[in-house]
Amino acid sequence: MAKTTGSDETGETLARRIADLIIDAATNSPRSLQKRIGPSEVGDPCDRRLAYKLLDWPTARDDGDPIASVIGTGFHSWMEEVFTARNKVDQETGRTRYKVEERVTVRPHQLAALIVAGSSDLYDRATGTVWDWKLVGHTTLDKYRREGPGTQYRTQAHLYGLGQENAGETPERVAICFVARYHELRVHVWTEPYQRQVALDALARLDAVRARLDDDSAQATDYAHTWWAQIPTDSKAKCRFCPWFKPGSTDLTVGCPGVQSAGPARHGFESLIA
Ligand code: SF4
Repeated sequence: MAKTTGSDETGETLARRIADLIIDAATNSPRSLQKRIGPSEVGDPCDRRLAYKLLDWPTARDDGDPIASVIGTGFHSWMEEVFTARNKVDQETGRTRYKVEERVTVRPHQLAALIVAGSSDLYDRATGTVWDWKLVGHTTLDKYRREGPGTQYRTQAHLYGLGQENAGETPERVAICFVARYHELRVHVWTEPYQRQVALDALARLDAVRARLDDDSAQATDYAHTWWAQIPTDSKAKCRFCPWFKPGSTDLTVGCPGVQSAGPARHGFESLIA
């Protein structure tokens, strides 16, 4: 997967070993092994991808190049250290200003499979702001600056808002901070007031997708290609990053050809929660 070179034969061998180590560590990281759906995935625009995920369906390819995720994880750890070092206890409340990388439960449930929980990058009690860090390429940062964060990131921000609310906080605002991987510091912040309903709608839509997995037609066909073909995609689906993307596939039980030819597409996800 990785392109490796060395100054001589020994260098080449060492480069290969380091690349393999990075790939192995990234593939076996808790985030990669996570099977339950997390707040970052709930707002994915593609129902079919959510369905594959919920069924733990065999993927059509490996996880791809891990380096962007490795760098992103490193950046998150650095920000965690920065805010932990600056954290102070408020004399009046006896509580710290920041909650850094704390796990929150967006939706508690008796059934473990229905729990939605995750680690919230930062909550600032002084301003009631739920923060999320995104390390992105600089052209991607420009896209988010022009077009906003998109449904998936916006949903994720409000889901963490609900998680903080469930943890006893009173969030007032959500904020996504985009930092560019670039030779100079570029930061863009998208923010809006916290809206519980955005999170509740996303959870309702997730439940609607889940309900389709259990209905009679699914059981009767044993999740055959024809059944998968009824699960809608979305014009905003991020197929390039989808583990079930298989260009040219004609069998959805093996992989999905992507949004261009993947069957019924729709815009938004209101149809499933109406
Ligand atoms: S390949 Fe694209 S359309 Fe198919 S499931 Fe994945 S995100 Fe959805």
